Amino acid sequence: MTLAQQWRDARPKAAGLHLDSGACSRQSVAVIDATTTHARHEAEVGGYVAVEAAAPVLEAGRIAVAAMTGLTANDVIYASGSGHALDLLLSSWPEEHTVACLPGEYGPNLAIMAANGFQVRALPVDGDGRLDVGAAARQLAADPPALVHLTALASHRGLAQPVADVVAACHAEGIPVVVDAAQALGHLDCTAGIDAVYSSSRKWLAGPRGVGVLGVRPELAARLQPRVPPADWDIAMSALEKLGHGEHNAAARIGFSVAIGEHLAAGPELVRARLAELGHTARQVLAEVTGWKVVEPIDEPTAITTLEPTDGADPAVVRARLIAERGIVTTACEVARAPFEMIKPVLRISPHVDTTAEDLQQFAAALREVSSA
Ligand SMILES: *Cc1c(COP(=O)(O)O)cnc(C)c1O
Repeated sequence: MTLAQQWRDARPKAAGLHLDSGACSRQSVAVIDATTTHARHEAEVGGYVAVEAAAPVLEAGRIAVAAMTGLTANDVIYASGSGHALDLLLSSWPEEHTVACLPGEYGPNLAIMAANGFQVRALPVDGDGRLDVGAAARQLAADPPALVHLTALASHRGLAQPVADVVAACHAEGIPVVVDAAQALGHLDCTAGIDAVYSSSRKWLAGPRGVGVLGVRPELAARLQPRVPPADWDIAMSALEKLGHGEHNAAARIGFSVAIGEHLAAGPELVRARLAELGHTARQVLAEVTGWKVVEPIDEPTAITTLEPTDGADPAVVRARLIAERGIVTTACEVARAPFEMIKPVLRISPHVDTTAEDLQQFAAALREVSSA
C-alpha cells in the first residue's frame, strides 16, 4: 500500500479538499480514539490517576521528539504550542537579550521576542529570503548576538533554510541556535545539533490542537532561569521541570504521542520525500494559473506553496470563496505573518502526503474560476 493510501485510510473521509496542513492537519482515527479514550478514563478513575497510568505513552511522545531533533527524552517537555514554547524559553533566558533572525521571521515570534525584552537584528538573506550563510558567518563573528533564532521553514513561504550550515556557523562563534520547527518537524530533517527547538502538534505531525514541544540541550537548559517558581525558593526541580510544570490537556498530549508514533512508523524519510514531490507538482501546476505568481523555487523540498496575486485578487476573499463554493481549505497569509519580508498577502496551500496530482489540478481549476469571477 502506498504512503498516500495508508495516510488516507487512517483518517475520517475529508469533506472536501484539505490543502491546509501548515495550519492544521487531519488527525487519524487512532489519534482521535486515544484522545477520547483518555478523557473517558479520566471520568472512570479520576484525572490524576489516569495521567499516571498514561505516563509511558507521554514518555514515548518525548522519546519520539528527541529522536527527530537529535536530543534525548529528558531534554524535551510539552507545551501548549510553538508560541508558548518560545515564550517559556525566552522568559527564562539567562544573559544578554539580543537575538539575530531572518528578515522573514514569523510576526508572532517577533512579538514574543519584544515582550521578553529582546533586541532583534536581521541576518543577511538572498533574493528568495534564504539565509546567506557566508555573509551571516561574517556578521556573527563581527558582532555576536546572545542567540540566533532560525525559523527552519516559514509559515508564509515554503523555503527550506540551511539549518545545518547555520548551526555550524553559530557554533564556530559559540552562539546557541534556537530553531522554530513549527512547520519543519515532520517535514525537514531537524537533527542538526541545534541547542533548542520547538514545534506544534497540529501541523505536519497531524496531532491534536493545543499541544507543542520544547527541546533544550542540557548545557543550555542548565543556564536557564525560569521565572516561576522564583529561583530563591530553592525548589528541587530542574529548569526544564519548572518550565514544563502546570495544568494541561493530558488527552491531547496522548493524542500527539500517537500521532508522532504514526509518523515514525510511516517513515520520516518517505514522508519528507513525498512532501517535496508534492511541492514540486503543485508549483508546476500552479505556474499556469494567470493572476497568481508562485513564490518558491519549483524544486524547494517542501510541500508549502504560496501564491502572490498579480492581478489584484485578495487572498482572504479567495480563501473564503474556495471554502464556501468548492469545499477547498487553504490559508490566506496576511503581511503581519512576516512583517519585514512580505509585501502583499499570499494564498498558501500545504497539502499532506495523501494529496494527489488530480487534487492539485482540481485546486488550480477552482482557483482560476474563483479569481476570474
Ligand atoms: C504556526 C507557527 C507558529 C506558532 O505555533 P503555535 O502552535 O500556534 O503557537 C510559530 N512559528 C511558525 C513558523 C508557525 O508556522
